[in-house]
Amino acid sequence: MRSISVLGATGSIGESAFDLLMRAGEPETFRTIALTGASNVARLAEMARALRAEIAVTAMPEKLPELREALAGTGIEAAAGPEAIAEAAARPADWTLSAIIGAAGLPPGLEVLRRGGTLALANKESLVAAGRLVMAEAARSGARILPVDSEHSAIFQSLNGENLEQVESVTITASGGAFRDWPLERLARATVSEASCHPNWAMGQRITIDSASMFNKALEVIETHEFFGIDEERIRVLVHPQSIIHAFVSHRDGASIAHMGAPDMRHAIGYALNWPHRAALPVAALDLAALGSLTFSAPDETRWPALRLAREVIRAGGAAGAVLNAAKEQALDDFIAGRIGFMDMAPAVERALEACARETGFSASPASLDDVLAWDLRGRRLAASTAGAA
Ligand code: NDP
Ligand code: MG
Repeated sequence: MRSISVLGATGSIGESAFDLLMRAGEPETFRTIALTGASNVARLAEMARALRAEIAVTAMPEKLPELREALAGTGIEAAAGPEAIAEAAARPADWTLSAIIGAAGLPPGLEVLRRGGTLALANKESLVAAGRLVMAEAARSGARILPVDSEHSAIFQSLNGENLEQVESVTITASGGAFRDWPLERLARATVSEASCHPNWAMGQRITIDSASMFNKALEVIETHEFFGIDEERIRVLVHPQSIIHAFVSHRDGASIAHMGAPDMRHAIGYALNWPHRAALPVAALDLAALGSLTFSAPDETRWPALRLAREVIRAGGAAGAVLNAAKEQALDDFIAGRIGFMDMAPAVERALEACARETGFSASPASLDDVLAWDLRGRRLAASTAGAA
């Protein structure tokens, strides 16, 4: 019987994974080791009961009494705090889904890799902030990383084991998010609730806003570079409003192999869960005749400067990814809190990157978690101190 853990179980990806596990006949088919969450301890406890988990952990120590109470009499352990999440991730499990939002997903993900487990990785921020470290840890321990981000799962599936050296380019698609068709001058006044509605995908609020600003795609360009080891010039982005083709791999002989599917994350999660096999999933089959047409356009970098920043960060190397990710998280916090406007986010991130480049450069790639966290803190401070500046 396979053992599984889900980090970030109460989020959008975590809920989709829970749905798949419940349908798979859990707990008869799987044994659940750890489930983690943060603010939503009532839901965390409900999931832990349903999946008969060994341990449930909230990131928030002040929520521990509530979690304990909700699990009373079940025999399920309760714990709290970032260290407890990392400890839960370190418990042996055959398959662990990393679906925490933001850089907070890095430490527990590294614990999974350290023990040589299989890591189904939705937390793209780990690869953006610490790609070298993450991939080196996996190589050292023999751990396997399976991509869960839909575009990266699509590349993985389209590659079909072929050698990347033979590949001409890799293209990931972007829906264009909430503001694809807005006039540029209106974007500066876009509100948080307007930015939080995605045309195609149901996702957590932060990644939905990142889709509207294209920072999500910027992170994914870096994720593609770090995970597949492909250079920046061979990574393309294409706006595709229907979100049916998620990525394609173009070969030197002129053939391109594309991955298509309904915009439903249960496909990518289920693919990673069942890999190397395929299993029936509750995902709607494609009806291309009903769709009628699929459309594509090149992304406009005036509207979405985040894409240019991603390429600059890859070229800069070293700790630039950690700084970009942290500065982006800070700018997003500032936008959500109403401190800066929608179009102020990319300039805030760019100023943080420039300040870093000017002061110290990005030095070598972070070689330890402490190193990443130090750069992360610096990125956040630089973005906060420059946010909203002229
Ligand atoms: P959500 O915001 O919906 O969920 C985040 C999860 O992380 C929740 O379980 C939340 O707990 C928990 N969490 C929040 N803050 C912390 C913290 N500081 N420490 C530990 N846990 C925390 O995010 P999504 O599910 O949308 O995204 C999760 C990851 O997957 C992200 O890295 C995202 O980029 C990636 N991804 C998401 C996709 C999607 O469709 N949503 C698609 C592709 C990738 P609680 O809710 O209890 O507060
Ligand atoms: Mg994606």
